[in-house]
Amino acid sequence: MNPYVICRKNKKIKAQDVHHKRTLTELNVNDSNVSLDLDNLECLCRKCHNKETHGKKDEYMFDEKGDLIESYENKH
Ligand SMILES: [Zn+2]
Repeated sequence: MNPYVICRKNKKIKAQDVHHKRTLTELNVNDSNVSLDLDNLECLCRKCHNKETHGKKDEYMFDEKGDLIESYENKH
């Protein structure tokens, strides 16, 4: 086993998050065929995960606890 998982996109960066290609919803989050399906998972660093999850929008990001927060980058 690898001691750590590398971001699928930035191969030098340690992956911190697991991205679900098929977005989890209230309806399927308890369905292990979706939430734990390895084909549905991508290991990504936080930065790539934010991009994948929010597309081209940068208004939101995850903080270190994994909570969704507003990004204030554009306001400075
Ligand atoms: Zn990455």
